[in-house]
Amino acid sequence: MTKMRRQSLVAYGQPLCETIADCPAPRGSEVLVRIERCGVCHSDLHLQDGYFLLGGDKRLDVTAGRTLPFTLGHEIAGVIESVGDEAPGTVIGRRVAVYPWIGCGVCPACQGGEENLCSNHRHLGIAVDGGFATHVLVPHRRYLLDYAPLSPAFAGPLMCSGLTAYAALKRLTGRPERGPVLLVGLGGVGMMGLAIARALFREPPIVADIDADKRKAAVAAGAAQAYDPSDPQARKAVMTATGGVLAVCDFVGSEKSLQFSTGVLGRGGKVVVTGLLGGNFSMAAAMFAIKAMTIEGTLTGTLGEARELLELARAGKIAPIQTHDRPLNEAQAALEDLRAGRIVGRTVLSV
Ligand SMILES: [Zn+2]
Ligand SMILES: [Zn+2]
Repeated sequence: MTKMRRQSLVAYGQPLCETIADCPAPRGSEVLVRIERCGVCHSDLHLQDGYFLLGGDKRLDVTAGRTLPFTLGHEIAGVIESVGDEAPGTVIGRRVAVYPWIGCGVCPACQGGEENLCSNHRHLGIAVDGGFATHVLVPHRRYLLDYAPLSPAFAGPLMCSGLTAYAALKRLTGRPERGPVLLVGLGGVGMMGLAIARALFREPPIVADIDADKRKAAVAAGAAQAYDPSDPQARKAVMTATGGVLAVCDFVGSEKSLQFSTGVLGRGGKVVVTGLLGGNFSMAAAMFAIKAMTIEGTLTGTLGEARELLELARAGKIAPIQTHDRPLNEAQAALEDLRAGRIVGRTVLSV
């Protein structure tokens, strides 16, 4: 039997280490994908820790329902290597991005096409073994999307950071026609958001990040203006330049980022939050009505949105983000660099 190599989570809070296992044989509708690239995402850090910070010293435990050793990684692109007896053999050899947000298929969320919101989900690299490995088993070929002529290092991250940014930008509904969008936080998702916003909206977005290098990279990638939200004058500067922003994507999700995001809103403005950094956020309740304000959260995106996004990217409308290839056996080092904030763009493991 063919063996697969994995960089496995063997204990929470501990470094990943290599494990070898038998390659799973696909059954029924299942498809086995030989992985070419898998992006490293901020949520991998939380899964490795086993918790998300909720604010104060409260933690959301995320260790339930996962057996160790476990394979993280959900930004996967690869080649279909074999299929179960209910899948056509003609798909073998196709190069595909893997939609990882796979649901149970029967709950109301799944029936409504929102498998990403399924509460009994089988999300790859979250609940089921994912992409820090040579192979991944996918329940059905409908989750596999052709990505040519893109590179696999770009196609993989489109399935999480790209999709998250795309779904968030779509929820700004109509507001981007009335002024520039503000993107807060320029990590992997934020930089994807910048590239996608440039494809979707007439006006280039404005951005905010506490890191000067990231602001510089964003301006080089087409941001109209970059602000340092830790500068006490930043809020006023944004208000003066825009008269109040109507559309904000908060890719950080911390107390400070939300204070900044809501603080620069104009009347009728909306903040879409995708970030999971943590902390508590409070605001005068009356401000919802006074500012006619909306705060909405999103979690990745649907299979339909993944298809739309890949179509945009394959048509050449989304400038590829900066990616850095690292070999699979450097997965732990890549996670540590991400944790230390040493990364501009996306790190992608090369298998
Ligand atoms: Zn992710
Ligand atoms: Zn479901």
